Amino acid sequence: MRRRVIIVGGGQAGFQTAASLRQAGFDGAVTIVSCESRMPYQRPPLSKAYIKEAASFDRLLLRPESFYETNGIELLLDQLVAAIDRAAGEVVLRTGKRLAFDHLVLATGARNRVLAVPGARLSGLHLLRTAEDAEGLRRALAGAPRLVIVGGGFIGLEVAAAARELGAEVTVLEAADRLMGRVVSPATSEFFLDAHRGMGSEIVLGAKVARIVGTDHAEAVETADGSRHPCDVVLIAAGVVPNDEVALDAGLETAAGVVVDRFMTTRDPRIFAIGDCAVFLSRHADGPVRLESVQNAVDQAKCVAARIMGADAPYDSVPWFWSDQGTYKLQMAGITSHADHVHVTGTSQEGRLVVYCFRGERLLGIETVNRPGEHMIGRKLLAQNLELARDDIERHDFDLRAHVAAHGTAKPEVEKRPRG
Ligand code: FAD
Repeated sequence: MRRRVIIVGGGQAGFQTAASLRQAGFDGAVTIVSCESRMPYQRPPLSKAYIKEAASFDRLLLRPESFYETNGIELLLDQLVAAIDRAAGEVVLRTGKRLAFDHLVLATGARNRVLAVPGARLSGLHLLRTAEDAEGLRRALAGAPRLVIVGGGFIGLEVAAAARELGAEVTVLEAADRLMGRVVSPATSEFFLDAHRGMGSEIVLGAKVARIVGTDHAEAVETADGSRHPCDVVLIAAGVVPNDEVALDAGLETAAGVVVDRFMTTRDPRIFAIGDCAVFLSRHADGPVRLESVQNAVDQAKCVAARIMGADAPYDSVPWFWSDQGTYKLQMAGITSHADHVHVTGTSQEGRLVVYCFRGERLLGIETVNRPGEHMIGRKLLAQNLELARDDIERHDFDLRAHVAAHGTAKPEVEKRPRG
């Protein structure tokens, strides 16, 4: 009988699973169930070019409509999967309709964290996850308003840079003592603090939002120390929450995300989880991780598609990420948050930065700004498990390219863990 794959979520990971299955010659039925009304599209431009220009939405599409027809991929838009009936091997849509599966891929992504403070329901507040959100924010930014951004993470800072280009007066309120503090080294945080101040944004660190002030519309954001930041528009960019409730209700393990093994499989061997919603083990991290990046969504989707086709390789890609903030392109290879030693070259005055992040003698990753060559070398180093001694890198005549060229024949680390 023809096998049936149901993919829950029509984002980057869901789309890629379907595309990779067909590319690998899967001849069963493939259905994507998406609760969004639009065909699968890219999210990264939403906080960058898409809010600056009146660009057509079609340019964001991952593929045109004809791709799904040609490849026999059924796309059910505006349909929410409300439950998984594991005993019956079916998903249950909100409409009550049931769809049977042999393999189920949860690619449900994440949603924005909302602020639980007084005034959080006033008009003028925006979130940014979907194309509709971005189109609303673009309209709000058109009159060069006073914009207050709650959250100095990647998305908040990308919007800050774009809004400055549009002439908005921008204030970023970050609760922690540095920007993007969860994921980058202090050196990179410092670089971007200077960079954003240089672009004309006001950046306030240690700023915990206490309430939003206004009668109908947001007029100011008040922080715990009583300071008021006047605004016309507020963007809440305070992180995301994984969409794992459907998995939890179905008795699958969750821990701020759907827990999977190295093959992206839940404890039910028919059910996988990938992308922003999945918590997995990575040799690049010091414990289970959930990553939010295009690379992660795409590579995990490819891994699962290969698994459904019978492959036996665990997920083992080097995590990498980019963030465009004005003229600064931040690129990261590896997971650097548990570093205990860094080696830094470059400054914000020079407009470039390279940060090698170590834990003990082990290179965890490389963060770069406007240095794409070093980023690519970093990915190569990590993929091939090449040794890089701290002493070497600190020598002023050390040549990273020459080092990789000389040692680059090392075999990538191969996972020996059995299927489980
Ligand atoms: P999503 O893209 O979130 O897709 C999940 C989909 O599933 C959603 O449409 C959701 O509505 C749907 N869904 C959820 N539950 C159900 C259900 N029960 N039934 C049906 N459908 C459901 N990454 C980078 O690497 N670089 C960047 O520069 C970058 N910029 C970004 C900018 C923005 C504004 C955003 C929001 C993200 C950005 N990212 C970036 C992150 C990247 O886009 C995500 O990591 C990626 O989209 C994750 O893909 P996903 O398929 O796992 O989840």
